[in-house]
Amino acid sequence: MYQMSGQALLLAAQAGWKEWKFYDLGFFFMAVPIVFLYGIAIGSFLNVVIIRLPRGESLIKRASHCMTCGAKIRIIDLIPVFSWIFLKGRCHSCGEKISVRYPIVESLNGLLYIANFFVFGFNLNMVLMCIFTSLLIVVAFMDWDTKEVDLRILLLIALLAVPGHFVNDLTIKQRLIGMVCIALPFFIIGEVSRVFIRKKTGEDYRGIELGDTYLMAAAGLYLGWKPMILAFFVGIMTAVVGGLIQKKVSGESQFAFCPYLCIGLLIGAMFGEEIVTWWLGWLLSSMPPEPEPGHYFSAFFLR
Ligand SMILES: [Zn+2]
Repeated sequence: MYQMSGQALLLAAQAGWKEWKFYDLGFFFMAVPIVFLYGIAIGSFLNVVIIRLPRGESLIKRASHCMTCGAKIRIIDLIPVFSWIFLKGRCHSCGEKISVRYPIVESLNGLLYIANFFVFGFNLNMVLMCIFTSLLIVVAFMDWDTKEVDLRILLLIALLAVPGHFVNDLTIKQRLIGMVCIALPFFIIGEVSRVFIRKKTGEDYRGIELGDTYLMAAAGLYLGWKPMILAFFVGIMTAVVGGLIQKKVSGESQFAFCPYLCIGLLIGAMFGEEIVTWWLGWLLSSMPPEPEPGHYFSAFFLR
């Protein structure tokens, strides 16, 4: 055991996991609970957004209340995740079950904030990625519930490109390519499939909805094109697996695509830059590039 100096702590906090081997676990144990608690607190607000936004209700006006008896939630019961566990998932007033969805969204947001902390370190980039993560959670759960995507949320995702431009070193060209590289094929597939579906069944819907297309455009503007390539592959693969499972369980062949795209986007945002760079280098030269020192993925895969 040794003590960490304040400077070492600051360095570890700013660098992310690639540099963490130089520091001890003390920093990890100190920082992770704080990041998690912050994440579940934000996650608690995401629950409000996911439920109220599609209904056109105010996000701030009315205090949280029981969905069954209308009883106001006490301050003591407002602690994310922990209150739900303490109350054993039931309302304090009428004993009606409180959906397990609430602690799931809260802890998902908390765990993903920790993941962002690991990947990006504690810096402005991590803050933007956490906002991106939370917006994706809202998009995914709202699409799952209502099969609709709120364009205001997508606009917020696209607007992350503005502060992002000062934080990471993507060029405007990379962002514009990111915006169209998946969204444009999605749009074309959607249009073509619409013609075929109308001919065959007389119904008017698209194979890939406009909401999915806009999501990929907004995220691409923020992330640039490399993360989008990985997001596309992961999104399609999880959608195929998830879609088959959903079809077996519910018997419905139509399902929300956004939740799977959001999984892809999260993985793309965290690892896409490195995986796609490595993959392209390997593809173009048909020889693995030299591992850069301290570069997590090249060091991991090419050793
Ligand atoms: Zn109640």
